[in-house]
Amino acid sequence: MARRVGVYTRISRDDEGDSLGVARQQQDCERLADLRAWQVAKVYEDNDVSAFKRNVVREEFELMLSDLRAGLIDGIVAYDLDRLARQPRDLERLIDIFDERPRLEFATVTNDINIGTPDGRTMARIMVAFANKSSHDASRRIRRKHLELAQQGKDSGGPAPYGWRKEDRTKVDPKAAEAIRQAQRDILSGVRIGTIRRGWQEQGLGNPRNGTKRMAHHHVEHILTNPRLVGYRTYHGEILYGEDGQPVMGEWEPINTLEEWEAVCSAVAERKQKYPSTALARKYLLSGIARCGLCKNKIRGQANNRREPGSKATRYTYQCSVVNGGCGKVGRVGEPVDRLIAQLVLEEQRARAAVSGVPVDQRWPKEAELEQINEDIAQLVEAERSKQITVATLLQLLPSKERSRDELKLERARFYKVQKQAEAKGDTTNLTVDEFLALPVERQQEIVLHSLSAVIIHPAGRGARKFNPKLIEPVWR
Ligand SMILES: [Zn+2]
Repeated sequence: MARRVGVYTRISRDDEGDSLGVARQQQDCERLADLRAWQVAKVYEDNDVSAFKRNVVREEFELMLSDLRAGLIDGIVAYDLDRLARQPRDLERLIDIFDERPRLEFATVTNDINIGTPDGRTMARIMVAFANKSSHDASRRIRRKHLELAQQGKDSGGPAPYGWRKEDRTKVDPKAAEAIRQAQRDILSGVRIGTIRRGWQEQGLGNPRNGTKRMAHHHVEHILTNPRLVGYRTYHGEILYGEDGQPVMGEWEPINTLEEWEAVCSAVAERKQKYPSTALARKYLLSGIARCGLCKNKIRGQANNRREPGSKATRYTYQCSVVNGGCGKVGRVGEPVDRLIAQLVLEEQRARAAVSGVPVDQRWPKEAELEQINEDIAQLVEAERSKQITVATLLQLLPSKERSRDELKLERARFYKVQKQAEAKGDTTNLTVDEFLALPVERQQEIVLHSLSAVIIHPAGRGARKFNPKLIEPVWR
């Protein structure tokens, strides 16, 4: 019987130049296996993960080791040693298995090494140690150079940070600098970063990176508290100190005095302590779920300064907003909408649980489909091996099959993940509306999204004062 081997392929950075893609590696490995009259039992493909970086897990490599140990495959074919193992640790684990199972096969296309023999192992250890060292040396050299430049107060290059000129990042851009200073004054007078972010977005300030229109909260925060504002050079996000214990000063014009900058930093830090999660948490249940009945744009909740008499809670409104690209014509006071939706969703989920008897360990419904694709793939590979089709044809047909297979596998993983999360969180169907509304908003949203894909808020018409539930249209999944 033919020996069953695994083919291991991996893309590394260096492959980009000589286009040694996974497909070609695989093809060459399979030819080699053919030549030795081995049967390729499985192809292990790690995409774009570096075998050099320590903390990266190569999932398929791990799978291959365990298959090898379990006797599911009798050997390995790889393109070269570099793609297989660059960490001494990985190589040793591989060698251990070859020690345990002495009759294992091993081959590389470049024929650089054979760890199936004792001499080959010695050679492999030397080669990996050497490759490892040169990689380390290269990255250490680059790091040292960066640090050296930083210690001289040299700028780090790259696109100019907001506040400085695009053409010359050492010179202040007066308009941007004024926007920063104004925003800093606002912060000190109690304005939130979120509000500044909105204002900047409306006025096109803040220089959003990579062309996106929306600026992240932390991005704005960084602009306003960047040590660069007072001329401090940072290195990996930290202020860099010279040998005299003083911060290294950069070669660019500062925007803030030290006092201004420190005041803003402490105001931001203090606010974070006071409202730890507001930056992350969504505040209103139907933000991003509600849609305008006229323009169908997504609607967000916004605080409404009018208060109910006798109530401390701020009221909020779901308002179609021109700023977010909507028509601005539809809005509704938020609280009754949330209560209505909570009630409908809980009722629906109760009804569903009653019918299905809560199928906690339901199986993923597409298992047969995945099996079929796996079979198709196996048949294609077999057809190539028995010379019914050429390798070229195989490689034309295979990718789309593999893609569907991988998508299905991903879907299955998600299916079970959701199930596990649901189990972990327990049953929510017996909640009352008030209990539901007391949950964190993120949890509420999750529960709602389980039943609804959207909530359409229809225009109320002129002078309509009383809340009309008929104008709130849930879109069920
Ligand atoms: Zn609208």
